[in-house]
Amino acid sequence: MPYVAEQSRYDSMPYRRTGRSGLQLPAISLGLWQNFGGEDVFETGRAVLRRAFDRGVTHFDLANNYGPPAGSAEENMGRWMQLDFQPYRDELLISTKAGWNMWPGPYGNFGSRKYLIASLDQSLKRMGLDYVDIFYHHRPDPDTPLEETMGALDQIVRSGKALYVGVSSYSADMTLKAYEILKQQGTPFIIHQPSYSMLNRWVEDELLDTLRDIGLGCIAFSPLAQGLLTNKYLNGVPELSRATRGGSFAKTMISGENLERIRSLNNIAERRGQSLAQMAIAWVLRNPAITSALIGARTVEQLDNSLSALDNLDFSADEISEIDRYATD
Ligand code: NDP
Repeated sequence: MPYVAEQSRYDSMPYRRTGRSGLQLPAISLGLWQNFGGEDVFETGRAVLRRAFDRGVTHFDLANNYGPPAGSAEENMGRWMQLDFQPYRDELLISTKAGWNMWPGPYGNFGSRKYLIASLDQSLKRMGLDYVDIFYHHRPDPDTPLEETMGALDQIVRSGKALYVGVSSYSADMTLKAYEILKQQGTPFIIHQPSYSMLNRWVEDELLDTLRDIGLGCIAFSPLAQGLLTNKYLNGVPELSRATRGGSFAKTMISGENLERIRSLNNIAERRGQSLAQMAIAWVLRNPAITSALIGARTVEQLDNSLSALDNLDFSADEISEIDRYATD
């Protein structure tokens, strides 16, 4: 059946302005880091993307190395574009990144001009796109001069291959330096992508203030701490879960101490009439410096559950201080 997007897709999703730019992001965006690669079920990923767009999620976030295998999430995205989303290209924001290890040798990693430009060309081919909406430098590079990396981002925009640029996981200080270079070049630098969740609050120390001061948006990745901030691990480790897949999820995270905190947070969520996943997303969005919560989902059911966080985004002062007792790094 050819895909026809839901007519009501813009009725309930709030859109938030990205810093002081002209671009608005959905309050909840969907990332394709895991569950959308060559080793996953093609039709499940496709169904999740369709459902997301039907509910107003206009932003899909990728990177060169998403899969596994690396590159395969972009290849699948290219097929889903062709099959379903081509008519909606101008309603979609598609981002990709380079910075982590992608191909062997000295030119497939970190932040050189050589790497970033070649990598984006490869990403565009895999996705069958002429341009991405946002291109990110995926992680700080301690050895390449920042001027070179930022110069590559500028060239990428000027050559029409990206509309906006961003950085991911940069410290506050490095973000400020990047901002100064990009401002001088006139490059549309609009967004930072850091990790942020009830179990990982590093951005609150300095970064969010810096972003506010310089007018950048912030899209928070892994707001569910890769699934830990849900009720799924409270009674053991389910077979179908990221914890059993190996890779990014350290099983040591499911410690007695963490489970106790999660149980307490789950009780608060229940009192609010929400799932813990929904409260974790709403909590990230309580902060006006956060433009969008960037979630993952393995199934349509998970996506639906997470998107319904939007039904209750408000917290009382008492709820916030109770959550603060358990929401610590
Ligand atoms: P989340 O913290 O949202 O974790 C997603 C996982 O949580 C799912 O795969 C699923 O895991 C579980 N889950 C999701 N929804 C529910 C639900 N409602 N109920 C129960 N369990 C649920 O985000 P991710 O870690 O997946 O990251 C999201 C995106 O952020 C990535 O796709 C990527 O775009 C971006 N990212 C960026 C990084 C960067 O360096 N810039 C690094 C990491 C991520 P399970 O399989 O266990 O069911």
